[in-house]
Amino acid sequence: MNRQERETGDFSRGAASFATGRSRVVVADCPSYSSGEVESALAEVVEAMGGMSSFVKPGQTVLIKPNLFSSHPPDHAVTTHPEIVRQVILLCARAGAGRIWVGDSPVGAQAEKGLWRRTGMEEAVSGTTAELKSWHVPQKPVSCGADILAVPQWYGDVDVVISLPKLKTHCLTTMTCSLKNIYGLVSGPAKIQFHIKYPSPLTMSAFLVRVFAELKPHLTIADAVVAMEGNGPAHGHPLPVGVLLASRDAVALDAVGCGALGILPSAVPMIRLAAAGRLGCMDESLIDCRGSGVPRLRAARMKPSISRFLRYIPESLFKLSTILWQLRPKIMVKECSKCGSCATNCPTGTIHDQNGILQINQKDCIGCFCCMESCPQGAIALQLYLGSLFCVARKRRRKVTTC
Ligand code: SF4
Ligand code: SF4
Repeated sequence: MNRQERETGDFSRGAASFATGRSRVVVADCPSYSSGEVESALAEVVEAMGGMSSFVKPGQTVLIKPNLFSSHPPDHAVTTHPEIVRQVILLCARAGAGRIWVGDSPVGAQAEKGLWRRTGMEEAVSGTTAELKSWHVPQKPVSCGADILAVPQWYGDVDVVISLPKLKTHCLTTMTCSLKNIYGLVSGPAKIQFHIKYPSPLTMSAFLVRVFAELKPHLTIADAVVAMEGNGPAHGHPLPVGVLLASRDAVALDAVGCGALGILPSAVPMIRLAAAGRLGCMDESLIDCRGSGVPRLRAARMKPSISRFLRYIPESLFKLSTILWQLRPKIMVKECSKCGSCATNCPTGTIHDQNGILQINQKDCIGCFCCMESCPQGAIALQLYLGSLFCVARKRRRKVTTC
């Protein structure tokens, strides 16, 4: 809940279009991150949404929330590109924003200064009126069903949230874009424990939808200029898709984004649950999808993650099915820089340094992939152990994996 909502009692942000009719998603051609192409693509999508002044009023405090969940340079396609962040800052400033804040909570307890530098955020705000905001500040609780989330105290002063996700495949949730980006508002160290509480794709997706319902943004502009395919969200391959997408309805935006993955929105538990909870629209016939980039988006074919089959396993069988298969991380010693980030961010504390080599004790691994997400080197591979290798593989997995 933000300041405006507390004062006006209006909790319908972003919901107007789908509550009263068709949700609009605008897709603009943006073949590269050159300043001119990003500027013209942003002008197309924001104008079609009614202009930035329909979201940002003079004097308001705006939070621009890119995806900065791990410390990677822009060309890895893990995080939102800094040129998009910079140009959205300029649009907010022109609309008269009083304060413009930029930030995201990375996985675990990663050092923010290094993250801001490596992801290009320092450069994005330099020469503008925007300020990078830290999550390493006093927190305030937010109720979310049976869970209590932690967000920075300053979040209570935010009037407008503009979410800038990256379109990527995801090992656990099939895809990540608008809905999942909002999870980044929750403080990093607190987030890790929810992977233990919600281990399956369905339980985690339901939790993420509850978080989205609590913290939903006013406007979403998604970076699919270069998306990520394969084993996202951190270690897939960059894939040029060449578009920006925007909507007030984050569910509709993600549903349209599914077109690039060649899957139906209903195949993504997060989208299905959010639509069922009336948080947005996933029905193609009710989405007004328009813009110069529609043909380019529809022509894209992003490869799925190795774990794409997870979403087909019924929840009641999920635990049982893990007897037959296991998806587990493996540290690739040649690529490992021994920074220790994976060990710090492992919720079960199962990564140890043994004789100068980092090792994963697979017995206590819950397959949450926090280690992969936080690894700045891409040094952690995902391995699938199949049922036919059950005995041997399980025996081996119960030993310590040597990196
Ligand atoms: S080692 Fe296992 S439990 Fe620890 S972060 Fe990696 S996937 Fe999660
Ligand atoms: S595997 Fe990655 S995160 Fe872990 S120590 Fe090596 S480089 Fe750092």
